Amino acid sequence: MATITNRTLIFDCWVIPAYVSVSVPSGTRLCTIEIETKRMREISRRLFFVVLLVAPLAFGQPADGQERIRVVATTGMIADAARQIGGNLIGVQALMGPGVDPHAYRQTRTDIAAMAKADLVLWNGLYLEAQLEDFLLDLAEGARVVAVAEAVPQDLLLGSEDYDNRFDPHLWMDPELWSRVVVVVREALIDAHPPGEAVFRTNADAYLAQLQKLASYTDDALSSVPADSRVVVSSHDAFNYFGHAYGFDVVGIQGISTESEAGLRRIAELVDMLVARDIRAVFVETSVSDRNIRALIEGAAARDHRVVVGGELYSDAMGEPGTYEGTYIGMIDHNTTTITAALGGKAPDTGMQGLLN
Ligand SMILES: [Zn+2]
Repeated sequence: MATITNRTLIFDCWVIPAYVSVSVPSGTRLCTIEIETKRMREISRRLFFVVLLVAPLAFGQPADGQERIRVVATTGMIADAARQIGGNLIGVQALMGPGVDPHAYRQTRTDIAAMAKADLVLWNGLYLEAQLEDFLLDLAEGARVVAVAEAVPQDLLLGSEDYDNRFDPHLWMDPELWSRVVVVVREALIDAHPPGEAVFRTNADAYLAQLQKLASYTDDALSSVPADSRVVVSSHDAFNYFGHAYGFDVVGIQGISTESEAGLRRIAELVDMLVARDIRAVFVETSVSDRNIRALIEGAAARDHRVVVGGELYSDAMGEPGTYEGTYIGMIDHNTTTITAALGGKAPDTGMQGLLN
């Protein structure tokens, strides 16, 4: 039995003996998890019982037979940083895939099992994963859990327009700022697995050099956008760090969280702004409904001002796994190249390194 904290989470596993006839791979462990978080206790005194079949090697093993440490990350961007640094010494699972909105995401039973088994859980923090926060704070009392964006010095963070005394969580939109998060991920991996330190440092140095190249490309491309056109209008306020780093005005129809609804008055104000500033392109986001953006385009059309969708941006989630856009670098390259082209700047169609579709 592994007791994570006796108060919050109990995790029992048994390897299924050979004489038990079940149709699962040999060595599969039968696990029972009992979870009772503080929040659940407030709502209900019931215990939740989950019986799972946990396949062995779910995180894979390196070729040399060494056991990998198991890392669970909430967002794809954090998972990508961990993969780049950890190489084949770690197995990484991201809880949130393409198109998933982290502001609204709630943990599934499978997620809870993965986090309970993990050697290290990485999350963004700064209230990005608003619905997961209570669970992660509880888990952190007995397990290695790191809020990577919260380790960045506060004087580098932007305030939240939605919440007093909170910061904007979307740090990945500025590659230079995200590099600081990557360093936090490196340190968390070293703490979790000290024998891997040399490998983690070498891999992190190589990745940080690539991020520096990405920052330079982004700076060059966006500098080519005419000054009057430097406005990004999108579904929610994910792009404030981007705007701050590259001198763009950023307008989200919804606030920093996707949880608030945009009212008709907000849409009308933004139509006025599009007309007054002669803005011709707005952007949709892969992880947020485009309903408000469509309302904006229709509102502008009613005023004889033609606005087009300048493209789809990756705001809070990356593209499909296995594609270039499914990596952090591909995500930012895509956004930079799309925004530059739509707003009248100059960028190669296939982006920084010829890999964009
Ligand atoms: Zn967001």
